[in-house]
Amino acid sequence: MLDRTNLAVERPTYVTHLACGMTGEVLPADRLHNLSPQGYPILVRYDLDRIRREWDRSALAERAPDLWRYRELLPVRVRTNIVTLGETATPLIPLATLAARHGLAHSPLVKDEGRLPTGSFKARGLAVAVAMAKELGVTRMAIPSNGNAGAALAAYGRRAGMTIDVFCPADTPDLMLREIAAHGANVRKIDGYITDCGKLVGEGARAGRWFDVSTLKEPYRIEGKKTMGLELAEQLGWTVPDVIFYPTGGGTGLIGMWKAFAELEAIGWIGSKRPKMVAVQAAGCAPIVRAYAAGLRRAEPWGDAATVAMGIRVPAAIGDFLILDAVRASGGFAVAVDDDAILAARAAIGADEGLLLCPEGAATVAAYTQALASGRIGRNEQAVLFNCGNGLKYPLPEAGRAAAPTV
Ligand SMILES: *Cc1c(COP(=O)(O)O)cnc(C)c1O
Repeated sequence: MLDRTNLAVERPTYVTHLACGMTGEVLPADRLHNLSPQGYPILVRYDLDRIRREWDRSALAERAPDLWRYRELLPVRVRTNIVTLGETATPLIPLATLAARHGLAHSPLVKDEGRLPTGSFKARGLAVAVAMAKELGVTRMAIPSNGNAGAALAAYGRRAGMTIDVFCPADTPDLMLREIAAHGANVRKIDGYITDCGKLVGEGARAGRWFDVSTLKEPYRIEGKKTMGLELAEQLGWTVPDVIFYPTGGGTGLIGMWKAFAELEAIGWIGSKRPKMVAVQAAGCAPIVRAYAAGLRRAEPWGDAATVAMGIRVPAAIGDFLILDAVRASGGFAVAVDDDAILAARAAIGADEGLLLCPEGAATVAAYTQALASGRIGRNEQAVLFNCGNGLKYPLPEAGRAAAPTV
């Protein structure tokens, strides 16, 4: 019998402590945190030796295919605090037409995160963050969002009975604003970028109005996003691909997967091989790419950010050093693609492969084909491209236009 809930255990967790992501300063678990005292993101640390002794891979065969199957590497203590909407494992879809056109040894695989609740991988992070907030007694939360994070927080937070406030740039896709409102959150449209929205959320948090769930400003969204790395390694038979292309805004997923691979090696489930981590940004908002090229560990804020890929329109990322450290340690790189290339990739993959990518996902396809052409990525390297949201959430070109371009 499959354990259909994956939640049937109340237990001490394997969490030992939390730690400042920059200084390593130890901070207590089981307490509400935003940033570390020094102002950096906080990471969750586990007793990996004990997990190694007590958790066997074979136990997974009994568990349902959702992110709670990895509960030993997650921070939630009490199952009734988990608010679930079915955080399903997402499929790897080969791009066979693209592979044939480019004569590739292996089809690149799209990890299609658009299948998750609220149509994006933000569900992974916010499912875990909401469970932990509930565990720690939070009743009201706020978030700055380009759309998807707000929708996920609204859905999970309202399901947990909390009051939710979402601050979005006024030009967020209208469907997403309506989605957030439909989930019962208070939506505020702000004339500015997500960073301006973040300032308002921070002010309200300091005034005691709500708990701030901004990207990397609380410790648990990254734990949820980490499950992308756990799941990917499991799907590939406890190996990792040669290269991962990840559309990078705040970078939670990239940092989370990098953490996941380290934890999996420490518990003995994968070896020391790591994928090259490629941070993909839009040419109109590429602070991480600029810092990477300049050899810097911190990124200057990007002025006048503009791209159709709203999810990666993030002018400043508080975890910039964690993204850049992971990219460099992996032997990967950071690269920007322009909106024309993004839209051409979306059109081609939609028409040829049956997959309607979100613009951020299409950016990874554009970056991948450019890296193949320039020789930065070899034709025999197994690539995984992240499509982080459902393509139906974004404005599409009118029907009846000219045939799709190829990539
Ligand atoms: C949030 C988001 C991203 C960026 O994710 P990070 O992990 O915060 O860098 C990319 N694509 C989509 C569709 C998103 O919603």
